[in-house]
Amino acid sequence: MGQGEFSGRVALVTGGSRGIGRAICQRLAKAGAWVAINHSASAEAAEATLEQIRAEGGDGGVYQADVSSFEATSAMFDAIESDRGPVDLLVANAGIASFKDDANMPVDLWRRILSVNLDGTFHCVWRAKESMLARDYGRVVCISSINGISPSRIRPDRLIAYGTSKSAVIGFSRNCAMAFGPAIRINCVAPGLIDTDMTRDMSDEMRDRIVAATPVARVGKPEDVAELTYFLLSDAASFITGQTYVTSGGIVTLP
Ligand code: NAP
Repeated sequence: MGQGEFSGRVALVTGGSRGIGRAICQRLAKAGAWVAINHSASAEAAEATLEQIRAEGGDGGVYQADVSSFEATSAMFDAIESDRGPVDLLVANAGIASFKDDANMPVDLWRRILSVNLDGTFHCVWRAKESMLARDYGRVVCISSINGISPSRIRPDRLIAYGTSKSAVIGFSRNCAMAFGPAIRINCVAPGLIDTDMTRDMSDEMRDRIVAATPVARVGKPEDVAELTYFLLSDAASFITGQTYVTSGGIVTLP
């Protein structure tokens, strides 16, 4: 177990195999947490995340589960508890987006996006809260999106289901903060455009337009999201719950 603020703590990062989730896993491990790295399909990438963590002096384990299934999610928590103990720090990060998510999207696509992004977050928080409430300690960050705050005026793809799912994650977190405090603090992070597999297919033209509209004039890195997530889980944020923080280079601002 590494040294640091989260030494002795067990963290679970859903979708920790790649992108933003991987950077969060690394950041929490650097702070001493033992990190459960969840994935649904990319086992190799999850193992690579674990290798990177170990190379940096941390430790953790890999856990496969499709978070859209409560049964699979619950079995994952059982496995983590039996391997390492109850989850202290939860980052509900797993999410999907689709460029077919527009005015003509099939109903099945709506259901899949909502079931991973919203139901998946609910399943994880619901399972985590049992032991968090019993032990009077729990820290949760849910990864939303600027699309959950306001629909994009720049992107032609409208992201109707995605934006709705991410707005709902914010509402869910606010309600949970009220219901489960003081034992559990729960906040949202709403990233803007971050360079990951999810956004890799975006055209250069679209990327350039977004950067041109962004005050800090760049695309975000997974580490930008990881630092904010780490802060919100830490004791430095002990008076913060039920809030949403945007990391978007300024392209979206809260009122
Ligand atoms: P990504 O590179 O596509 O990675 C997605 C991660 O989620 C992968 O680890 C993937 O694992 C996992 N995942 C997907 N479906 C899952 C499921 N049903 N059960 C468990 N894990 C699942 O995406 P990213 O850009 O890092 O996005 C991470 C989060 O940030 C998402 O919630 C996304 O909506 C949000 N976000 C991203 C951006 C951006 O610009 N990139 C902006 C705002 C918000 P497998 O490969 O194993 O399925």
